[in-house]
Amino acid sequence: MKRHHLHMAGLVAVTVAVWSMTRPSVDISTALEVAQLFGALSLVGLAAVNFITTRHGSVDAIFGGLDKSYAVHKRLSVASLALVVVHVVIAVENEPAVEAGGGHGASAAGVFSLVAFALLTLVALLARKLNYERWKAVHKWMVLPYVIGLIHYYGASDYAVLAWTPLSLWLNVVNLIGVASCFYSVFLYERLGFPWRGRVEHVQEVAAGTVEFRVRMNGFTARPGQFVFLKVNPKTRRFPSHPFTVSGLSERGLVQFTVKSLGDHTARLVRGLTVGDAVWLSRAHGRFDYSKGRPRQVWIAGGIGIAPFRSFYEAGVPQVFDIDLFYAYNSEAESPYLREVKALDEESNIRVHLCDFTETGFLTARRIRQHLHPEEQFDVYFCGPKAMLGSLLPQLADIELKPASVHYEEFQFK
Ligand SMILES: Cc1cc2nc3c(=O)[nH]c(=O)nc-3n(C[C@H](O)[C@H](O)[C@H](O)COP(=O)(O)OP(=O)(O)OC[C@H]3O[C@@H](n4cnc5c(N)ncnc54)[C@H](O)[C@@H]3O)c2cc1C
Repeated sequence: MKRHHLHMAGLVAVTVAVWSMTRPSVDISTALEVAQLFGALSLVGLAAVNFITTRHGSVDAIFGGLDKSYAVHKRLSVASLALVVVHVVIAVENEPAVEAGGGHGASAAGVFSLVAFALLTLVALLARKLNYERWKAVHKWMVLPYVIGLIHYYGASDYAVLAWTPLSLWLNVVNLIGVASCFYSVFLYERLGFPWRGRVEHVQEVAAGTVEFRVRMNGFTARPGQFVFLKVNPKTRRFPSHPFTVSGLSERGLVQFTVKSLGDHTARLVRGLTVGDAVWLSRAHGRFDYSKGRPRQVWIAGGIGIAPFRSFYEAGVPQVFDIDLFYAYNSEAESPYLREVKALDEESNIRVHLCDFTETGFLTARRIRQHLHPEEQFDVYFCGPKAMLGSLLPQLADIELKPASVHYEEFQFK
């Protein structure tokens, strides 16, 4: 069971416990009590959804990496919406006043919040093709149905919401965290979330459509494999915050990034980044860390997904690890650090296997098996396009090559 599953189960258990210890302040049916339990559970779910968006350090710890937390953010939002639907259905079934919509304003607010929430969730799920910045701008409006939902809770609940009861104390703490998280993410994060500030000292093209650049950030720390959110020339908003892996970190405080033009903003960055440009960094995030794995490992890098592996081998990989690195790329021209990776083979405990699509096509599980003994236990570390992992994992299963564990870093959140 994943760590965050335990946390979620804990949140549900506490909510059910405090609900069962609290009596409604008016005489209502058991069904309406249960309806308000579902309402309470949805508020807890939404507070957790909002807390994830703060990108607070504990989010990495709870979810095993910020990149993983966004997948939970999505699923938890949908689950919370489902809890709200159950809450409304049971309430409408058991409180005729609400059904007529003639119920008091706070009840109507509940229905409005549900409709707005459902519409914005549909937009979030269906408009994924929308430009990311526009998608994010629409997505921020999720705060509205959340706040209206809270007005509904404080105005229509049949429990004393401000009394010293287990349920109200718990929900008041939960709602406070939810509201504070919203306020921080929507209004403060872009200003307060980037404490590291420096200037570009080196820019170099390292492959077609890919630049490497270094920024001096004295005192900045990150473990190999971690990523940050990065802005360039924030005052001009030329390059709003985007996530990039730290592909190198020198003792002299130089932080290195390797960026491939994969969309509108990165295309502009790769074309226009200049020495002297101002760069702001967030704290380091992510739990993609080979050093926590078994000694026998298979590393799979797809294209720019070589970035975290570069930070691993640049920092030096202890001899206790026995690694096969499969570096798959479209063509030599588009593959950053190809010479460095080739050199690894001679010098280190990392055996390198190059997979040039123009020569050998896509990397296959059969190719990986050629370098593994049938019985050996190994961990897989993967960074690359989602579709590549989606194709390799079933292939591995088909040839009964079962990694002891698979660790991957997703290069996209939505
Ligand atoms: C943990 C992580 C580490 C990454 N490391 C690197 C790296 O080292 N080098 C590299 O070249 N690329 C890296 N990426 C990918 C990089 O962030 C995207 O290519 C970039 O955000 C594309 O932005 P765009 O505006 O050019 O493209 P768009 O066309 O706007 O976006 C393409 C996709 O990128 C994602 N994306 C866009 N903007 C953002 C944003 N602000 N926040 C989160 N996701 C966004 C969305 O999923 C979107 O669908 C990483 C991504 C993640 C999540």
